[in-house]
Amino acid sequence: MDKNGKIVKVAGPLVIADNMLGSKMFDVVFVSEKKLMGEIIELNQEKAYIQVYEETEGIGVGEVVYPTGEPLSVELGPGLLESIYDGTQRPLDKIYSQVGDFITRGIQVKSISRDKKWRFIPLVKKNDSVSEGDKLGFVQETTLIKHFIMVPPGMKGKVKEIKEGDFTVEEKVAVLSNEGKDTQIMMMHRWPVRKPRPYLEKLSPEMPLFTGQRVVDMFFPIAKGGTACVPGPFGSGKTVIQHQLAKWADAEVIVYIGCGERGNEMTDVLLEFPELVDPKSGEPLMKRTVLIANTSNMPVAAREASVYTGITIAEYFRDMGYSVALMADSTSRWAEAMREISGRLEEMPGEEGYPAYLGAKIASFYERAGRVKCLSTEEREGALSVIGAVSPPGGDLSDPVVQSTLRVVKVFWSLEAQLAYRRHFPAISWLNSYSLYNENIKDYILKNVSEDYFDLQGSSMRILEEESELEEVVRLVGVDALSGSDRLILLAARMIREDFLHQNAFHEIDTYSSVEKQYKMLSVINHFYQKAKETLQKQVEIFSIENVKVKDKIARMKYTPKENVASIDEIKNEIDGELEALSKNI
Ligand code: ADP
Repeated sequence: MDKNGKIVKVAGPLVIADNMLGSKMFDVVFVSEKKLMGEIIELNQEKAYIQVYEETEGIGVGEVVYPTGEPLSVELGPGLLESIYDGTQRPLDKIYSQVGDFITRGIQVKSISRDKKWRFIPLVKKNDSVSEGDKLGFVQETTLIKHFIMVPPGMKGKVKEIKEGDFTVEEKVAVLSNEGKDTQIMMMHRWPVRKPRPYLEKLSPEMPLFTGQRVVDMFFPIAKGGTACVPGPFGSGKTVIQHQLAKWADAEVIVYIGCGERGNEMTDVLLEFPELVDPKSGEPLMKRTVLIANTSNMPVAAREASVYTGITIAEYFRDMGYSVALMADSTSRWAEAMREISGRLEEMPGEEGYPAYLGAKIASFYERAGRVKCLSTEEREGALSVIGAVSPPGGDLSDPVVQSTLRVVKVFWSLEAQLAYRRHFPAISWLNSYSLYNENIKDYILKNVSEDYFDLQGSSMRILEEESELEEVVRLVGVDALSGSDRLILLAARMIREDFLHQNAFHEIDTYSSVEKQYKMLSVINHFYQKAKETLQKQVEIFSIENVKVKDKIARMKYTPKENVASIDEIKNEIDGELEALSKNI
């Protein structure tokens, strides 16, 4: 009997094939003589429903389908960093140099180079006992990242042979012997993308993932291993914020999944990302980045695969003990791919035509984030933080993708077009955003940042909320009708917004603020507010307070270079001096 299947129907990215008995769900198949890659997403006796990751034009009924018996997997090993992959881990840069702008269908290029030799340095000795996840050695993959070669999950044994020297990813670097059976270890292994990589234990995310962005770190912090959602209406500064996070977040490895909507062949990210410089080392950021990009000439189904490809690679670096940050931009494109495929499968649609399982899929993706105790006999922790951008049509937050995401993520940075229009950047709304990590990171913050961090956060938020209520009144009766204390609230709120929250990504110093600096800045503004309140009670005119000279100093705090951060505290003395002088003058 012919083991191969036969196409009975082609519907866009969905191909239905008969004679597929023996295949499993999520097995990879190759469709037609053109060998288009696809994945089985539904099985009905002998019929397989195949999601094809390449354009199916010209493919017809009766053509052959080759099963592989293997699930969709990624290759993991040295060579991942600096790579630019498509959704199924085909190296876009290498494909380009081979076939030019128009990616030929069915092209097969290895995800990781088979020719390149890497210097392998062993970390174990002959006769050591090792278990899954234990480090056997490492490769200095780029100047920034050591790539640890670990015993692949499911394996253990005694080290029978361990090498040192230059090897390709397919050459043997160690031999493990277990119960009389020898297993050769090479630097590369494969892992099915839809299966989360194993770890020993999930830990609660207790360390903040500082980003150097004030609105994030002081107001809506994310934890290492945490999850966040950023809706990104067009022009709201989504790209800039993602780049800022990639550059400055306290993560060692970055995985960036781009599903762009613009551009002819490549998403913007492909052009912009390789230009970014890692501020900590001055080297290209790509040296600690893996980029996954869906070109717009690839069919939607590939977007569906790309988020799994990306998160699997991210988990692999987490397993080495790194803090990894994954950014997916935008998950709406992924959801749209699900919607399209579900429509082709003629499934019962849920809200807005999305499949009923949309929420479950989104949840299981974000569940792969976390701070974990890595699989290993040594004590090792890794963290995978996931930041997903969503682009709801018309910026409408009731969109099912936004809603399903908000149900699972713990941080919401609400990027608003209104703020961007007013040139307030980052355009993260202070009224609509939230973080549910405050409780988790509390101990760390109280110990390492300051005892009054949360008080400061709370009182600043209150001032901003009061400002928004007062704005209503001002609109109706004008600012002159307000009491002195209300006008002081407006003044303090403006300082918080303009002198603290507003942060220019393109300014050499302002682009990044250490947490120490952020804390000092907010604490100066708070000091001003408290002191001004007292001064007001001494019958000083609000007008005089509104015009104090120290205001300019406060406005320039953000430009304090890092070596002078301590000097920010001195502004408090100037505030005291100037405000006390005012009360003496009456
Ligand atoms: P989007 O990707 O949402 O369409 P961009 O990230 O490209 O928007 O931002 C649009 C423009 O807004 C940028 O070109 C830049 O001028 C400005 N901008 C965004 N964020 C910042 C920021 N943090 N600091 C200064 N300017 C910003």
